[in-house]
Amino acid sequence: LMQLSVPLNFIGFVYREIRQGLTDIEQMFELLDVKAEVVDKPGAVDLKIQNGEIEFDNVHFAYDPQRPILKGISFKVPAGKTIAVVGPSGAGKSTISRLLYRFYDVQGGSVKIDGQDVRDVTQTSLRAVIGMVPQDTVLFNDTIAYNIRYGRPSATEAEVEQAAEIAQVGNFIRSLPEGFKTMVGERGLKLSGGEKQRVAIARTILKSPPILMLDEATSALDTGTEQEIQAALDEVAKNRTTLIIAHRLSTVINADEIIVLKDGEIAERGTHAELLEQKGLYERMWNRQREAVQAEAKLKEVRESD
Ligand code: ATP
Repeated sequence: LMQLSVPLNFIGFVYREIRQGLTDIEQMFELLDVKAEVVDKPGAVDLKIQNGEIEFDNVHFAYDPQRPILKGISFKVPAGKTIAVVGPSGAGKSTISRLLYRFYDVQGGSVKIDGQDVRDVTQTSLRAVIGMVPQDTVLFNDTIAYNIRYGRPSATEAEVEQAAEIAQVGNFIRSLPEGFKTMVGERGLKLSGGEKQRVAIARTILKSPPILMLDEATSALDTGTEQEIQAALDEVAKNRTTLIIAHRLSTVINADEIIVLKDGEIAERGTHAELLEQKGLYERMWNRQREAVQAEAKLKEVRESD
């Protein structure tokens, strides 16, 4: 009986490991709120990454055929540049990031990376070149170090710590009694939205992907946290093709081009300064957000003087 119990224990261990692996993947999909409905086409080849240029060419897309979400969207993210997509809630911003990752297929036009249609390449090779910092990162029930190292399992301890430093989360981690060995996730220490996002950035820094996609948090962060995250993002976006899905405008000021999406079409495009000059939708959004930030600061002042 003793002899049998060892392998059984072992099988239990392996099972739990696999189970954890599945949970990770399930969490990833849950997090992105999508089902895995897209499969590799027969004979799909690996994506050959050159400079990492992204092109959306006349993209049409609908989740439900009755309700088109993107109606002929065209834009390029040149290699090493940063393009931001902004627009009212529900305009289809996050949909663009899902199409790049090929969680769904377009119904017209194409999405290409370095001239290769994402439908023609293997999903594994596609997803390997895109680093994604999602809106809300699900942390695994493991240590902070594990959660960061997930970006590149072969990374050394020093590399994990360095990534945390660049992501502006090193000080915070070191302030915890167990440091990088602190258990986090559902059953461990619960991190704030901003802390989680910086852990996700550290993970992405380790992965060091040629293409970076940021789906910015919708929820408002306090100014200090926002600045820290901004600094971390600027660092990781440096010299990398970056697509920012922005729900707030403060993050897009330095983008090489800003695309303003409205009702599934590109309403305006240009740099921050150019768009302000156009005095259109972007300028109105910008003024509204600035007023909101000022009102919030005022409110805080009043509260603090109480
Ligand atoms: P927000 O700024 O509020 O996050 P967004 O511009 O990112 O909005 P998307 O998430 O791209 O908007 O959604 C665009 C539209 O598509 C929305 O009206 C949304 O309800 C719809 N939609 C999003 N995901 C799905 C889905 N899985 N199935 C059906 N409709 C969806």
